[in-house]
Amino acid sequence: MALTATADDTTRQDICQRLALADPHVYLGSFDRPNIRYTLIEKHKPLAQLTQFLATQSGQSGIVYCNSRKRVEQVAEKLIDGNIRAAAYHAGMTNEQRAWVQEAFQRDDVQIVVATVAFGMGINKPNVRFVVHYDIPRNIESYYQETGRAGRDGLPAEAVMFYDPSDLGWLHRCLEEKPDGPQKQVESHKLNAMGAFAEALTCRRLVLLNYFGEYRNQPCGNCDVCLDPPTLFDATEQAQKALSCVYRVNQSFGVGYTVEVLRGMQNQRIKEHGHDKISTYGLGKEFSHEYWVSIFRQLIHRGYLVQNIARSSVLQLTEEARPVLRGEVALELAVPRLGLAPRTKADKLGKRNYDKKLFAKLRKLRKAIADEEDIPPYVVFNDATLIEMAEMIPTSQGEMLAVNGVGQRKLEKYGDVFLDVIEDHITLNHSESHYG
Ligand SMILES: [Zn+2]
Repeated sequence: MALTATADDTTRQDICQRLALADPHVYLGSFDRPNIRYTLIEKHKPLAQLTQFLATQSGQSGIVYCNSRKRVEQVAEKLIDGNIRAAAYHAGMTNEQRAWVQEAFQRDDVQIVVATVAFGMGINKPNVRFVVHYDIPRNIESYYQETGRAGRDGLPAEAVMFYDPSDLGWLHRCLEEKPDGPQKQVESHKLNAMGAFAEALTCRRLVLLNYFGEYRNQPCGNCDVCLDPPTLFDATEQAQKALSCVYRVNQSFGVGYTVEVLRGMQNQRIKEHGHDKISTYGLGKEFSHEYWVSIFRQLIHRGYLVQNIARSSVLQLTEEARPVLRGEVALELAVPRLGLAPRTKADKLGKRNYDKKLFAKLRKLRKAIADEEDIPPYVVFNDATLIEMAEMIPTSQGEMLAVNGVGQRKLEKYGDVFLDVIEDHITLNHSESHYG
């Protein structure tokens, strides 16, 4: 028997061939994980964006993946400074340190693990509610495996990626330095597919499933593109402003600086270069920095501008830019999406009507039992079971047994203590409403 977690069609054929399997029976499960919502967010100020996202997660378990050890440590430190129970995890730490983090995460003592790809093998924690990619991963297989660590209990979970095209450029340059050969070719192909996923304007899930050879044509309704479809607008005038500003600063500066000139910022560097005197200075002050960065990224992606890697990523105009500058062609771009995507539709679907206060009490009890028995909390009961208790509010052993995840053995072991907490909660609620 040959087993694999995540393999595309080519890899599967490769496995059969190398193991010399003659006419094997192939069992292939679906790659779809409908409870995971895939969201890409344009990366501007990732720490602030991460904090903003975490604020929507109300203390639930999650993993933040970064592409380097240094980044892992920086991000973990910032979260800890912000009073979040976070821990770093990477291959540069000792075995004991890593084992401690893994154990503390399993037990909900650590809420968020900030990690490199080294984290995850053998992690089978069902109540990971979100996975954040602080940087774009190197291939779709990694992305899929890492996001797949969220929501194993089947409850709604989030997979969020912060995407900056220059991160992708950096990965391309790292790959360039490797020796030529078939391995490099494969990696390059996979990196391109990852880039195409990030730039896609169609349903993320369809792109993912197609990549693994699972073809569908119905959009999922539970990814950022489905929930907040990109809208195109006539961007001719804005593109002209952006492109001519690149021209006016002599095609010698990067995105950040050019945007500062366009927005009429007053700083030493701009004054020194005399760029506060040029005609495009301040022409775009009605929009935010992030807005313009998004416009520039689209102009690069569409081939009107190139970033000269050899000259510290300065922007240069391409031939394509000429007709736009002369006003000979109109240009449509996507309205920049700033901040978190609206999530009303799926939130309503994912929202269940249960007693949140009771749920918090049941979680607390579960944690106390788990600590006493020296086991992870989800082994006592998983989140889905606790939510159902807070929804059905059982008051007898019989009703308790009707809750999913409560069997005879667990009922005998934990039934009474959970029923006690529920009863206390009801009595308290009752007297509160009675006495106002
Ligand atoms: Zn979708």
